[in-house]
Amino acid sequence: MTEKVGVLGKKPPRRTGVERVVNAPLPTVYGTFQAIGYLDHDRGDEQVALVYGDLGTDGVLTRLHSECLTGDAFGSQHCECGDQLVSALRAVVAEGAGVVVYLRGHEGRGIGLLAKLRAMALQAEGLDTVEANLALGLPVDARDYGAAAGILQDLGIRSVRLLSNNPRKREALVRHGIQVAEQVPLLIPPCENNITYLRTKRERLDHHLPHLDAVAHLS
Ligand SMILES: [Zn+2]
Repeated sequence: MTEKVGVLGKKPPRRTGVERVVNAPLPTVYGTFQAIGYLDHDRGDEQVALVYGDLGTDGVLTRLHSECLTGDAFGSQHCECGDQLVSALRAVVAEGAGVVVYLRGHEGRGIGLLAKLRAMALQAEGLDTVEANLALGLPVDARDYGAAAGILQDLGIRSVRLLSNNPRKREALVRHGIQVAEQVPLLIPPCENNITYLRTKRERLDHHLPHLDAVAHLS
């Protein structure tokens, strides 16, 4: 790819961070959001934030949803991502204001779609989700939240009430300059297909999932 050269022969300064590109109304079955599209100049990803109502600056109900094609689009029961996305969209509508940032590039905790499917194949053979990533020579969690923080900053948000069970998301946001006033649990009732996966998230990835205690009867 040839680089652009300015009129005086100098390269224009390379843009960094996220750039707001478009804002479109998005009516959904949950309510009408504003779909705000961003280009992440650091990683080249196209990102979108679904904004509902007037956000304000502090204590904004916020979900950073890691892309999961199988869970979000296909209703996979391997994980609980699809139910979490729906619950988060419903929660911000019920609240009257909030934002769901849908983070592309986060498939399989950042290893990519094909690697995630490989890891799922290994899990079907008995490895847990952590062992499967490691068996593939991949990181257990490679997700980066710099773009998410940049999007929240662009939206004028200083502090959030974060819809998440994952302490690492909270820590990452704080590291990137967004205050987390509260972590709001997003607990999905487990099913037979995902109980082992969810227990691994609790035991090996420190996710806060107290509701799993009530379902000891699932295999
Ligand atoms: Zn998922």
